[in-house]
Amino acid sequence: MPHPSPMLSEAQALRCLLDGISPLAGQERVGLDQALGRVLAETLVAKNPVPAFDNSAMDGYAVACKDAAREGEVRLAVSQRITAGLPPAPLKPGTAARIFTGAPLPKGADTVVMQEDCREENGYVVLHGPLTAGKHVRRAGEDIAADRAVLERGCVIRPQEMGLAASLGRATLAVYRKARVALVVTGNELVEPGTPLAPGQLYNSNRYTLAGLLAALGCETTGYFRVPDDLGATREALAEAARNADFILTSGGVSVGEEDYVQRAIAALGALHIRRIAIKPGKPLTHGHIQGTPLLGLPGNPVSLFVTFAVFARPALLKLQGRTHLSPLTLRARATFERRNPIKRREYLRARLHHTGDSGGLEVSIYPRQGSAVLSSTVWADCLAVIPEHGTVMPGQAIEVMPFSSLLSPLG
Ligand code: AMP
Ligand code: MG
Repeated sequence: MPHPSPMLSEAQALRCLLDGISPLAGQERVGLDQALGRVLAETLVAKNPVPAFDNSAMDGYAVACKDAAREGEVRLAVSQRITAGLPPAPLKPGTAARIFTGAPLPKGADTVVMQEDCREENGYVVLHGPLTAGKHVRRAGEDIAADRAVLERGCVIRPQEMGLAASLGRATLAVYRKARVALVVTGNELVEPGTPLAPGQLYNSNRYTLAGLLAALGCETTGYFRVPDDLGATREALAEAARNADFILTSGGVSVGEEDYVQRAIAALGALHIRRIAIKPGKPLTHGHIQGTPLLGLPGNPVSLFVTFAVFARPALLKLQGRTHLSPLTLRARATFERRNPIKRREYLRARLHHTGDSGGLEVSIYPRQGSAVLSSTVWADCLAVIPEHGTVMPGQAIEVMPFSSLLSPLG
């Protein structure tokens, strides 16, 4: 199939793809314990300050620091005992209150002396002046001031967001519903794992790479279609996928050969926006819409599929699921290798990060075989290293890397 459309840069393609995607309208309410990895669909505002009252940060004695203003030992009668969970009486002037961590500070006290810094004898506590106000006291609102927006709509819920929501008293959260993604895997040569291979066949690994990638981003797989290299079958599967899914991912069949039918099927059923992108691996990445459902056509080569998912499908699926922050974490690390990229395509290499000995900086090495069919490179790697178009990288040069820990994590 000829390519009248130009090859888009990565940035142009990402803009085109993301502009065509709106967050899902559907929301649901989940219990806090079910919220991990979900995307918040409301902004959480603190109604009350956290903590709600001044309290002790230590086991010790609550006093008014004016009662121990001078240098030297001071003896104060212990007038009450305050444990966590109950409101105390005001502090009798000129006395101390035994107090435990988290217990409310009594009215009239303004500081806490750690028990390690004093001694109790016969109902008195002996401590050392001078004291400073506010020591070992957690002030009301110190963590969160009242009326402050603490969690923004569009953030991903990590364990710490679960804890923070609970500290505000929230038992449930409104979250975006999970995206339903249909998978359409093309290729006459494919066989499902668990069955023997005939000559010329290979196992369908992309299905499982995609299943893992989708689960890692919190998506649901709604439909799975295995289609032969045939226009009619491809059209049928895509039309069916578009009816039930929020997003369609296809594998293979997007190159320029006569046996590649995905682009033709999209053009026949809907609109084809992108046919080629200036990245390596992954040039034939395809994007279109069918009956309003966005579609990404990933190249069949297993490494190209993995890389193009990370760079394009990931932000698209995050946006669809309501996420507002879409950029992956990037770091800079010193290359241990030399690499020339003579072409006008951004190159993504399977790479591994490690610490340099003395300087404490990061170094990045690449897998020796970078072919787009060498899936073992993705298993060896823990990041993608980026080589700019027409770029030359020399050993020691700092380059951009994208760690998988952020790229492929629901919390990343
Ligand atoms: P295609 O993009 O369909 O031209 O496929 C490019 C290469 O990727 C071919 O060598 C295919 O055999 C291989 N390939 C395509 N689909 C898959 C798949 N689902 N699993 C593993 N390899 C695949
Ligand atoms: Mg194929």
